[in-house]
Amino acid sequence: MTMVRVRFAPSPTGYLHVGNARTALFNYLFARKHNGCFLLRIEDTDRERSAVEYEKALLEDLHWLGLDWDEGPDVGGNYGPYRQSERVHLYRQLSEKLLQEGLAYRCYCTKEELQERKEKALAEKGNAGYDGRCRNLTRTQIAAYEKEGRKPVVRFLVPSETIEVNDLIRGHVVFEGETISDFVIVKSDGLPTFHFAVVVDDLLMQITHVIRGEDHLSNTPKHILLFRALKAPLPQFAHMSMTLGPDRTRLSKRHGATSIRAFKEAGYLPEAFFNYLALLGWASTEGQEIFTREELIREFSLKRCSKTAAVFDHQKLLWMNGLYMRKTPPARLLELSLPLLQAQGLLPAQPETKLLARCERLIALEQEKFKTLSDIPERIGFFLKPPVYDPELVEKYLTPAARQILSELATVLENQPEFQPALLENTVRSFCQEKNYRPALVFHPLRVAISGMTKGPGLFEMMALLGKEETLRRLGSVLRNETFRTGKDGGAGPAA
Ligand code: GLU
Repeated sequence: MTMVRVRFAPSPTGYLHVGNARTALFNYLFARKHNGCFLLRIEDTDRERSAVEYEKALLEDLHWLGLDWDEGPDVGGNYGPYRQSERVHLYRQLSEKLLQEGLAYRCYCTKEELQERKEKALAEKGNAGYDGRCRNLTRTQIAAYEKEGRKPVVRFLVPSETIEVNDLIRGHVVFEGETISDFVIVKSDGLPTFHFAVVVDDLLMQITHVIRGEDHLSNTPKHILLFRALKAPLPQFAHMSMTLGPDRTRLSKRHGATSIRAFKEAGYLPEAFFNYLALLGWASTEGQEIFTREELIREFSLKRCSKTAAVFDHQKLLWMNGLYMRKTPPARLLELSLPLLQAQGLLPAQPETKLLARCERLIALEQEKFKTLSDIPERIGFFLKPPVYDPELVEKYLTPAARQILSELATVLENQPEFQPALLENTVRSFCQEKNYRPALVFHPLRVAISGMTKGPGLFEMMALLGKEETLRRLGSVLRNETFRTGKDGGAGPAA
């Protein structure tokens, strides 16, 4: 049996989009399932729109998603180069071959001539394809055009035959050959068109399965004709349904984030995103939704890819991400959120191991509540930086009466030898009893004073994590601040 060889062939003209990432993922899963080869090919023949920065970003984003490839511009391989811009000599060789065999011809028509004839043809018979004018030029005509300095394109001589394909997702599809006119395969600047480059590459790279978006289905008859003209075996085709937004229009910025980078920056976990993408237009036989990578590789099959469009649902992704946030080890959550914590100035560039260990403990305490990585700085930030008090909270919780209670409590806490959650709870509860204070009147102001928040981990856990010195420092700082006398004059937080 021949080895499965599939490719992901993005054009580096922008950041990796959800729809393309899904194409990459399905190719990857298919290759891994069949112990085949997954290769990355950069389709950068559109010189004006392609940029090296986008190529770099594409590779980074694919890696972030957890994909790796066996051949590609960065890892090499036996079928390189893997950038179309470096393969121009190969396209030239094969277009020459087609020209010699009379399967392609040079066309000297100018843009203006083509446009004029197209308009006329449209008006007369409603058919606007190339009219084949240069199909049978004589030597004299060619010489005359060359003398005029016209730069020819190379057109493929399209045979009028019906083309059928058994698409692995869409089933049997028939295309009428007559509807395709002689199309350009090499432009006047000597560069190949998209159709020609794709076919030459798929042929030379010995691609066995072309798995790509349904928007390429209409290009497939052209590709099949080119494969035949080049006397190459046809790969199998599988055209994946499109990805739509919830309103069933093509997924775009209007629907929110669409690039992989944007999801990464919004704090999504790569593992969750990988899992979610796999469910866009594919379903397991059992209807299972949560899969490890290994399970997905085992279960994946093109047969179970849906013909109908997939709808990208941000809410479901968020739900799934929360699920992964809860089952990811705190150490990994810390590792993934480190750049966020550093960017917000909550952690230094080189944090001490002790500090990291406490962050990890905090993450573990709060883990149930995280939906994305971005919740981590928000929820553990109080611990890393003195709080900035929200005036509304000050007015509600740090009233003169509450401050009186806090100052009495501070004296008690100063004599507390050990800051352990259970011991602290005991102390604070006894304090309430002795003084006859309702616990809520003590607990809420205490929480706000030490953290600036009304949410967060258990109060005593929080105090234990902050430690005696820091807890008392924050309490003292609240108590000393003039702003809290009336609780009404702006409530700027205590100085750090
Ligand atoms: N470069 C094409 C695209 O980005 C892919 C072509 C193909 O997969 O055949 O849509």
